[in-house]
Amino acid sequence: MSDISLKNIEKVYDNGFHAVHNFNLEIKDKEFIVFVGPSGCGKSTTLRMIAGLEEITRGTLTINGKVVNSLPPKERGIAMVFQSYALYPHLSVYENLAFGLKLAGFDEDEIDERVKETSKIMGLTEYLERKPRNLSGGQRQRVALGRAVIRHADVFLMDEPLSNLDAKMRVSMRAELVKIHRMVGATTIYVTHDQIEAMTMATRIVVMKLGRIQQVGTPADLYFRPANLFVAGFIGDPPMNFLKGKIEKKKFIGQDSLEFSFGTKLKNVMKKAEGKDVVIGFRPESIKLAPLTKEEGEESKKKVGDIAFHGEVEITEMLGDTMNIYVTLGENHLIIRTTPSDDYKIGDPIDFYVDYESLHIFDGESELVITDDEENKE
Ligand code: ATP
Repeated sequence: MSDISLKNIEKVYDNGFHAVHNFNLEIKDKEFIVFVGPSGCGKSTTLRMIAGLEEITRGTLTINGKVVNSLPPKERGIAMVFQSYALYPHLSVYENLAFGLKLAGFDEDEIDERVKETSKIMGLTEYLERKPRNLSGGQRQRVALGRAVIRHADVFLMDEPLSNLDAKMRVSMRAELVKIHRMVGATTIYVTHDQIEAMTMATRIVVMKLGRIQQVGTPADLYFRPANLFVAGFIGDPPMNFLKGKIEKKKFIGQDSLEFSFGTKLKNVMKKAEGKDVVIGFRPESIKLAPLTKEEGEESKKKVGDIAFHGEVEITEMLGDTMNIYVTLGENHLIIRTTPSDDYKIGDPIDFYVDYESLHIFDGESELVITDDEENKE
């Protein structure tokens, strides 16, 4: 059992820099929590405060109901995995795994049993006699993780543990980590700046910016219901499209005489947004392309969505299973994610549509999403 509670946690470094502001989070036993955000947003600082490697300036950190603010790291029941593997090069995999237990005074039989159990979980059974230099990057990372697993710690803290691996290995280790988390069941807090790692591994994600939590939620919460402009732009690849403008008489008025009306749709949102500067967001895959009539060699005018746009193809990016079309809409640049096709050439006119329900409308000033309270009540 390992619940972790962070209440009003603040970090002010000795030089006066305020790195973490009023951080509040309740982590339940066995959760896989990911802290994600751009460089310098305070993820590592928060993790290090939980580990006991960094003093907590203000606030209360509780692990299993016990306040641990002033407890030294080794008494917190925590195992930490860093970006650097920190393996002993002259020791074998077996000895690297056994090292911590030996120091802690475990007897030989117990150590042997745990090394065997851990190497089985980590897929390292065949490599126990090897030295780290004779292992691949992924295998080394597995040994580093194994050193955390072998301690039977209740809580795992991981700071960018995959960032030294090449792209392919990172993808396979992501899935491995999720499997290992399931097997071991330890509450895990994982720090990364990579939103794809966050989306693929987390039970819940904490998005941070400039030392403050922006939103806490499941990957689906963040993707489909971003709370503000920052989260909307940070989560998702390719990123969400944004159009800046103003709402006047239930109409969106954007740059380059871009205008569209909402009619009776999004009634409550329009009421709140009336007269305000707004940013309208929609995901690249929510855009629908007007079907092309090849025979005529031009776009058909068949309406396939609520709001019609007429742009120009800037470039196309073939990804195999999907295709990104970069489009200019006057001064605006948008990305469309669609099924691959050779029909779109640079400079071609392109007609596309977005449905009202795919739109996220943000207050241009506060950058918070404007929600339909009635809809949320249901
Ligand atoms: P990264 O992904 O680059 O590691 P991060 O989100 O983990 O970023 P932190 O390492 O937590 O960010 O740093 C948060 C802020 O605190 C940064 O602006 C950093 O410069 C500052 N900082 C970190 N350590 C110290 C320190 N010892 N003294 C003063 N400021 C520090």
